[in-house]
Amino acid sequence: MNTLHLASELRATVDRWRAAGDTIALVPTMGNLHDGHLALVAKARELATRVVVTIFVNPLQFGPNEDFGRYPRTLADDLAKLAEAGVDLVWTPPVDEVYVNGFPPATTITVSPIADQLEGAFRPGFFTGVATVVAILFASVRPDVAVFGEKDWQQLQIVRRMVEDLRVGIQIVGYPTERAADGLALSSRNQYLSEADRRLAPKVHAALQAVAAGLTAGRRDFAVLCAEQSALLAAAGFKPQYLEVRAPSLAQPAAGDRDFVVLVAAVLGSTRLIDNLAVRPV
Ligand code: AMP
Repeated sequence: MNTLHLASELRATVDRWRAAGDTIALVPTMGNLHDGHLALVAKARELATRVVVTIFVNPLQFGPNEDFGRYPRTLADDLAKLAEAGVDLVWTPPVDEVYVNGFPPATTITVSPIADQLEGAFRPGFFTGVATVVAILFASVRPDVAVFGEKDWQQLQIVRRMVEDLRVGIQIVGYPTERAADGLALSSRNQYLSEADRRLAPKVHAALQAVAAGLTAGRRDFAVLCAEQSALLAAAGFKPQYLEVRAPSLAQPAAGDRDFVVLVAAVLGSTRLIDNLAVRPV
């Protein structure tokens, strides 16, 4: 497995592969890899002959009071896992290889209005940071296909929309959320949880399941249904930020819809947990 830091080395390697007839799949990450990331890598291996993983903790997507400084960085472990998973190339650029004319960049990408809701309402500027870095990673790697987790449902919709609007010409593949046995979605941020909070954390997934059960039972009082579960989370010690039913596109849901996604963010101790669940009542 090749581990590179410079964009020029990355380009030379990818160009060589292309000339040899290879196809390229990209999995962007911020590192501290868990089985969710590795599932994306396995999917990527099915989709192309070469797999590139990027590890970059993107300063542009962290707010001033967020966890950029303490975000877990475990490069040696990550590289061992990726080599084991059969990855061809890992790009771990320094900040000035991504933002070539200095940080913050003069050029950013904002995908309105979906970027202003849900996550975006609580993390101003977050999705501009995500869309901008994803566009730069796409331009640097120029893959045929890129794999993203449904764990970050809103991010996936934003990337899809950007790719469509800007005619980026890269196929975007979403992959289902990997969970711990108790239902907690795997996340690099789970390690911030105290032992006691880790035991409580699966209640986030349980709240999604309860809303899903309500939808499946025919309830369409979306706001009431979510408020009930949000109150239960609050009573258990969480600070719920949002719990909402939406259409998969993130449009507001209508009673006659056949597909929904339930999305949640809740703070537990000093940890912000997000999760979502797609629901298709029959
Ligand atoms: P991150 O390193 O958190 O930026 O995540 C990198 C990619 O992994 C994103 O596409 C995430 O949506 C995806 N991802 C994170 N957690 C999971 C999970 N539990 N299951 C599947 N994909 C995930």
